[in-house]
Amino acid sequence: MTKNIGLVWLKDDFRLKRNLALIEAAKNHDQVVAFYLYKKKKFDDQEAQKWWVCESIQEFKKKLNNYNINLEVIATDTYKSFFEKLFQKKDFSIYWNKTYEPNYLKFDEFLKNNFEKNRIKCSIFKGNVLNEFDEVKKNDGSPFKVFTPFWRNAEKYYMEKIPTKEKKISKCLKKISFFNKTINYREIYPNKQWFKKFEEYWIPSEENASKELKNFIVKRIQNYSDLRNFPYLLGTSKLSPYIKHGQIHVETIWEECNKIKHKGVNKFLAEIGWREFNHSLINYFPHMLQGNYSKKFDKFPWMKNSKLLTAWKKGLTGYPIVDAGMRELYSTGWMHNRVRMIVGSFLVKHLLIHWIEGEKHFRKCLLDYNEANNISGWQWVAGCGADAAPYFRIFNPILQGERFDKDGDYVKKWVPELRKVPKKFIHKPWEINDENILMLNKDYPSPVVNHEEARLRALAAFKKI
Ligand SMILES: Cc1cc2nc3c(=O)[nH]c(=O)nc-3n(C[C@H](O)[C@H](O)[C@H](O)COP(=O)(O)OP(=O)(O)OC[C@H]3O[C@@H](n4cnc5c(N)ncnc54)[C@H](O)[C@@H]3O)c2cc1C
Repeated sequence: MTKNIGLVWLKDDFRLKRNLALIEAAKNHDQVVAFYLYKKKKFDDQEAQKWWVCESIQEFKKKLNNYNINLEVIATDTYKSFFEKLFQKKDFSIYWNKTYEPNYLKFDEFLKNNFEKNRIKCSIFKGNVLNEFDEVKKNDGSPFKVFTPFWRNAEKYYMEKIPTKEKKISKCLKKISFFNKTINYREIYPNKQWFKKFEEYWIPSEENASKELKNFIVKRIQNYSDLRNFPYLLGTSKLSPYIKHGQIHVETIWEECNKIKHKGVNKFLAEIGWREFNHSLINYFPHMLQGNYSKKFDKFPWMKNSKLLTAWKKGLTGYPIVDAGMRELYSTGWMHNRVRMIVGSFLVKHLLIHWIEGEKHFRKCLLDYNEANNISGWQWVAGCGADAAPYFRIFNPILQGERFDKDGDYVKKWVPELRKVPKKFIHKPWEINDENILMLNKDYPSPVVNHEEARLRALAAFKKI
């Protein structure tokens, strides 16, 4: 036990379980202070997440109190300016868990060098992943670009490694403060009407993440492979925002799921595998954070059309499954994966609007926004990513609706204007016959583009590259 203070930089890790940095700091120091750096600019971009983060800070602060650990929030314009001041201080050691974005990993190196130069002990731990991104490589040392062999190797590697035995956090002797200029989370709490709705759907806490995982394993994982594509059902885990903010570690998910044997478990863990794959991709190919992974798409003739982009964002395209998805996103901060693919495809293929616009809007609205998954998800949809859906495979939003929301329950939930429309017309309300015309609320728009024309136009654009 050392006399100096242990500082823990919290990023996306609002949990006690498998929080290596926190556990190690509490083991080594009598006095530990955790801190969260609030960078306003980041949340101008990732607006919805501000709600989740504020709720998490509030909850986690109370929890850390029980361990005599203070959680201090500090506002800063840049991480660098904050740390440059910290380098001047003495008598502390610092700990944090990695986040797997190239800029963060590069910054870790910068910090480590500077802390060491100033004789401050700095310990960096594995973050919320199964494997470090560079642990899984082909035999020749090059990175995987295709998911299936990546995951086969990643899974094998992880199992051979035998996951670290879980350690428990110890209670510190005394609660102390460390930083001078701290802020209360209330000072940054977003009081926008928009966020009020999220309270109906989510409770951001570690306990709730565990509860959701347990429920999913007991009630739904067996049917995951069959039901995961139907947005009107609760077929997936809905754990993504908890994973993003570290309220649950993917090793815990792995361990709990593997207590039962079922094909649903393999399918589900493979989705966790996609997350690992995406982290590996953005680190090996960081150019994809700025643009297309596949350079040939740099010449793609995207169109600029703010009217159509706004109709898409607002869920007013006239295609019910697309509109339902966009409204689910706005209301809950989350969207079903099948529908993410449908709305994404509609934006980039039917409207020919650059995937970057879609990525930006998702970044603003998603509670589970994660740079690796969002960038890769969008490039998968647009056809310009690694192991992506080919551009020429164009989702038909009517058939997608009829296949994955056959009775229109999902559409009716999110698009009230269509609640009275008979099943037969629910995914193509423009075809409604005279007999039923009064069932269609006149406020619902006509399709902003004709499907067949848009399909041909997209194929023609693709031919140009
Ligand atoms: C255009 C687009 C953008 C996306 N943006 C994000 C994003 O910003 N953040 C995000 O976490 N996911 C993103 N995804 C992936 C996926 O849609 C969500 O992870 C999933 O819908 C979350 O719901 P769930 O927790 O119920 O998933 P489940 O089906 O229960 O899966 C469990 C976990 O596995 C991971 N996962 C599942 N599907 C994928 C996938 N296709 N790619 C990578 N990881 C996956 C997530 O961590 C998820 O929580 C995006 C997908 C697309 C097509």
